[in-house]
Amino acid sequence: MLYVQKYGGSSVGNIDRIQNVARRVAKTLADGNQAVVVVSAMGDTTDELIELIHKITQKPPDREYDVLLSTGEVVSSALLATALGELGHKAVSMTGAQIGIRTDGVYTKAKIVEISAERIRKELDAGNAVTVAGFQGINEHGDITTLGRGGSDTTAVALAAALHADVCEIYTDVDGIYTADPRVVPAARKLPAIVYDEMLEMATAGARVMQSRSIEFGAKFGVRIHVRSSFNEGEGTMIQGSVEGLLDGTGMEKVLIRGVAHDTEEAKITVEDVPDQPGVAAEIFGALSDRRINVDVIVQSATVKDKNDISFTVGRADLSRALEIVETAVKKLGGGAIRSDDTIGKVSIVGVAMAQHPGVAATMFRTLSSNGINIQMISTSEIRISVIINRDKVPEATRALHKAFGLDAPSAS
Ligand code: ASP
Ligand code: MG
Repeated sequence: MLYVQKYGGSSVGNIDRIQNVARRVAKTLADGNQAVVVVSAMGDTTDELIELIHKITQKPPDREYDVLLSTGEVVSSALLATALGELGHKAVSMTGAQIGIRTDGVYTKAKIVEISAERIRKELDAGNAVTVAGFQGINEHGDITTLGRGGSDTTAVALAAALHADVCEIYTDVDGIYTADPRVVPAARKLPAIVYDEMLEMATAGARVMQSRSIEFGAKFGVRIHVRSSFNEGEGTMIQGSVEGLLDGTGMEKVLIRGVAHDTEEAKITVEDVPDQPGVAAEIFGALSDRRINVDVIVQSATVKDKNDISFTVGRADLSRALEIVETAVKKLGGGAIRSDDTIGKVSIVGVAMAQHPGVAATMFRTLSSNGINIQMISTSEIRISVIINRDKVPEATRALHKAFGLDAPSAS
């Protein structure tokens, strides 16, 4: 079998851990399998590199920023190949450029447009394990780009798709995907399996186990993704296309909601008194999307005297850039004050069964109200309902919803 494995930053956080990863890979190889192993930068390396460049300037050139950040993953991949060699396995490390991971030209958040599997195939055929520096590619000019924070997941899933690997194993520091973040909800339980759409919504809603784009890739190409711990041998969570195998024998099949996700990394922007005419939303959100700033919940208020207020949320890390862009757009359109609030948080419930069951929203809102939690904004998809609330209330709301939808582990009730 061909395995693509990915080990996150904490799994390769020091030499001991890299040697531990090498032993795990060696086990896969010893069973007669082939392995392509994608690695993240060691521990907090990426954050440290960001800090370094910001000591020189608050606005580093995007191109140099990406060259710098890509080095973290290169270090891990070379160390892992070396450790595999010490265990008697032939292994070679590869950068994104060496493999030919072609991306678009958007530095710091590039998207993969093409992967040539040729070089990796050649190495595998020659009996090598291949360690791959995640999170990076090259644009059409051959310059290094990076894929956005958490981008090694996308490297791994995309490689699994390109190589038609049997499975893509995502090794991380948690045991799998949980019904909620166990640090916030002690009664959360590990899911044996989850479907792509739910996982995508969970990831978008703030469950930070995998980069959302990697799930989109998985869904598009039908890659079987197994999220599991690098620190123990236990089975993790399968991310798959069908709901088959989603019953865990503990009555969870009756549950409408697969999980409750929370996100405390968002901020709200409100633009007051923009003209009520076609093209206004297009101008503001077009400008944001051109700079690849993700906008989440959007609410436009009722029109008063041909003017609207528009509120929306963005990632907190994008807030200052988003404000700049919005200011420019509003100057052009004519509009009133721009306000921002970074004391908000988001709580979401996710489940494919929700679409067939009216009343889920009502249960959610009733639960929040009986806990005295005020809802500022609401957004829904077919399989997700999200509310924006005060950030301080996020843990309480997450726990209350987890319980209300019957997700608490039996022992915890
Ligand atoms: N090292 C990068 C980050 O910290 C990419 C990754 O870990 O996947 O975001
Ligand atoms: Mg990471």
